[in-house]
Amino acid sequence: GNGKRDRFVVIGGGISGLSSAFYLLKQAKQRGRDALVTIVDPSERIGGKINTLKRDGFTIERGPDSFLARKTPIIDLAYDLGIENQLVGTNPKAKKTYILHHGKLHPMPPGLVLGVPTEIAPFAKTSLLSWGGKLRAMMDFVTPASKETGDESIGDFLTRRVGAEVMERVAEPLLAGIYAGELDKLSLASTFPQFRDAERKHGSLIRGMRANKRLAASTPAVATRLPDAVKNSMFLTFRGGLNTMLEALHESLERSGVEWKLGRKAAAFRQNDADEHGEDVAPYEVLLSDGEILEADGIVITAPAFDAADLLEPHMNVDALHAIRYVSVANVVMAFDKATLGIDFDGSGFVVPRSEGTTITACTWTSAKWLHSSPSDKVLLRCYVGRSGDEAVVDLSDNQMTEAVRRDIRNTMGITAEPLFTEITRLHHSMPQYPVGHLQETAKLRTKLRAQMPGVWITGAAFDGVGLPDCIRQGKEAAMGVYKSLIG
Ligand code: FAD
Repeated sequence: GNGKRDRFVVIGGGISGLSSAFYLLKQAKQRGRDALVTIVDPSERIGGKINTLKRDGFTIERGPDSFLARKTPIIDLAYDLGIENQLVGTNPKAKKTYILHHGKLHPMPPGLVLGVPTEIAPFAKTSLLSWGGKLRAMMDFVTPASKETGDESIGDFLTRRVGAEVMERVAEPLLAGIYAGELDKLSLASTFPQFRDAERKHGSLIRGMRANKRLAASTPAVATRLPDAVKNSMFLTFRGGLNTMLEALHESLERSGVEWKLGRKAAAFRQNDADEHGEDVAPYEVLLSDGEILEADGIVITAPAFDAADLLEPHMNVDALHAIRYVSVANVVMAFDKATLGIDFDGSGFVVPRSEGTTITACTWTSAKWLHSSPSDKVLLRCYVGRSGDEAVVDLSDNQMTEAVRRDIRNTMGITAEPLFTEITRLHHSMPQYPVGHLQETAKLRTKLRAQMPGVWITGAAFDGVGLPDCIRQGKEAAMGVYKSLIG
């Protein structure tokens, strides 16, 4: 080192912020530098949307519950933190998923990948779709690829390729689980670029997705880096819930001397005049809501876009951030005695198309999907409420919400038993909706920020992927970006 300490302020203590801090410290170590990282969050609890609750032997996730196994950044981090042996996969006996259609649960035809059929025989047989709908989907094989190069909505794209019926009855309820969004408004390029690539490369979405599947099956690259016990699961979490990762990150960051400023937010930041830069004047100052001022050589902003907009607005145009709307959702977790239900949960749950008119948008059979989550004589269900265009439901009273959910699980699964307990979690403005053109607009914003304020980075779920692995990857990229602009 050169004896000088690099000071970094990470705004936001969610998974993006914690990963940024982790990788800033790793970068510092690799570069032989001394770094002080300070993490600011208005909450007293770290983790942002990640929130695991332990109750009566159950492990309950109030926010995210798992992640895609094939996305390496989170696996790498698990190894870095030494918690890879705590990874668990889904119950292999609960692979089936159902879709509600005219009030009844229909098994999802095998071979659907993100709502796109990749196996024709089961698709042709499914009771979910009309013959007209199936034939329309097969038009994908002969419809030429679009020559447009710009972004479009996923809704427009899917309607164009496989028709409105597949899009409304199958694709939307499945994909909406990830964004709680309206597919007609979500950017294709920043949510499912693989769809567009499939069309371009293969002239057909179905052919392209089939080719991707064959390729994935023949590339064991990821699998080699996973503990044997979880190699066959598409989704993973940790035995003690996602909180395991938070605790491990917290411990590692503590050991590296990270400074926590919890229970207050970053209210503003300013850039010091270049002329003032003496030995002791920091390039940036971050003002906290309690009046404390933190000096910084680098800043990583990971707050949701609307909070980040408040911080950046005094310095530049933030239309790109205001364009990212956030949908509010809630979930209702109910525990039951297995004996009172008499149901064989032979799958991971079901999703609900908008047209069904229920309050719940999906229901995960958590105790069947994740064996570690519940005592063996109990059942845990997690019902999702609220999506783009139907958000008022999130503000129903606890009683009203419980009543609506119980009515839905009675009508769909015949459950009338009294739950042992109910846990309601409301997540206001929690699901970012990437608008059409998102990639270009956010790239412009970042280019401007880099030029105007080197060392200030903006990242997190609002930008390049909402999944936990994507957030971790973005935290890592931020750490490298900040160090690069600091010392090259
Ligand atoms: P956040 O977790 O939102 O963290 C941002 C932090 O910034 C917050 O703690 C906030 O308090 C703080 N902040 C705000 N303003 C300021 C300020 N001025 N100063 C300082 N701090 C500030 N992903 C998956 O991979 N798998 C799933 O199963 C999954 N399920 C989900 C279910 C739900 C209900 C939701 C809402 C999301 C789900 N996701 C899932 C997505 C994933 O959980 C999120 O995208 C991810 O956790 C976001 O992390 P983040 O750090 O970017 O943002």
